[in-house]
Amino acid sequence: MINVFQPSLGEEELDAVREVFATGWVGRGRRVDEFETAFAAHVGVGREHVTSVNSCTEATFIAMSLAGVGPGSEVVVPTVSFVGAANAVAAHGARPVFCDVDPRTLNPTAADVERALTPATRAVLVLHYGGCPGEVAEIARLCAERGVLLIEDAANAVASAVDGRACGVFGDFGVWSFDHGKIAVAVDGGMLYARDPESVSRAARLACLGLAESTGHLRAARSARRWWEIEVSSFSRRSVMNDVLAAIGSVQLRRLPGFLARRAEVVARYDAGLAGVPGVQRPPPLPRGHRTSHYFYWVQLDPRVRDDVAEDLYRAGVYTTFRYPPLHHVPLYGSDAVLPGADRAAARTLNLPLHQSLSDDDVDLVVRELRASLASRAAAVLTR
Ligand SMILES: *Cc1c(COP(=O)(O)O)cnc(C)c1O
Repeated sequence: MINVFQPSLGEEELDAVREVFATGWVGRGRRVDEFETAFAAHVGVGREHVTSVNSCTEATFIAMSLAGVGPGSEVVVPTVSFVGAANAVAAHGARPVFCDVDPRTLNPTAADVERALTPATRAVLVLHYGGCPGEVAEIARLCAERGVLLIEDAANAVASAVDGRACGVFGDFGVWSFDHGKIAVAVDGGMLYARDPESVSRAARLACLGLAESTGHLRAARSARRWWEIEVSSFSRRSVMNDVLAAIGSVQLRRLPGFLARRAEVVARYDAGLAGVPGVQRPPPLPRGHRTSHYFYWVQLDPRVRDDVAEDLYRAGVYTTFRYPPLHHVPLYGSDAVLPGADRAAARTLNLPLHQSLSDDDVDLVVRELRASLASRAAAVLTR
């Protein structure tokens, strides 16, 4: 089976894990510190602006707390979002207000976001679909003008940028993921950026039981007497990273440029193989100055054949999927929004396999099977 997503974990990561084991300390320690430092440099911000947690979803929940999202407030979320985004809003007692997306890019435009703003809007939470930055710079400007906080779910966008500025650091908060399905994989893990370093300190406390940083076992305050005494500032969970996962994450960050280069080649091969194929729309071109992480490659097909094509490909050993099914149709969120752009995208879009381990032959097989399936399915539609 050709997977849609696939991590590249090997000997270098195993060596890093072995080294951690040999130190006798696998909890949160030096490797986590190194990973956070490396990541801050990677996105071009000071060390004091980032802290790690055990998942991106957790980082999103923490960002909601830091943003003061609570009962009576609204958070605008593009309906084509990761489910954890809406859960983080609703779990804080606030209302997720879903906005539409451009049917071709699957990103919200600034106008889509603006239409969903109300006097109750506390924050806007956007992602960068498939790694494409979208109108994040315009949305950041809009939020600043309206006095609304901006949170970026940059999980798709680990190496995306607009005019050299990394996605995830345009707003007040940014979150990234290192789970098993991402480009840089720590097995699990998340990162949080905050414009205000004081928020980063609060985030670190929220991720560690609400314990003050001066608490002995957190900061090895050996000089202090009674280092076992604690100071609790909130009723928090424990969601810190650990040295084993951080060591893997650091290796993956170093390997990231190689992953990105191969992904760009795969995308170019798809683009060439699918150019001019009747019934296939390829992803729209990136605007000037935008850099993508090539996290998704997607095609848009006639909605009458999309699901059949997915099944044909599955039978041919090619796994495909659709990210992200619109959240305004999830009954639990209680939305009555009408969002035609997202519905149009959801009926047509299919994410093809994209990862750095795909060979040219793999890509050619996907293209061949997609063309064959479309040819037969399209003929069936015409004669129905
Ligand atoms: C993967 C992903 C997440 C969740 O990340 P976890 O680390 O698994 O919690 C959130 N948002 C987006 C856009 C993602 O792709």
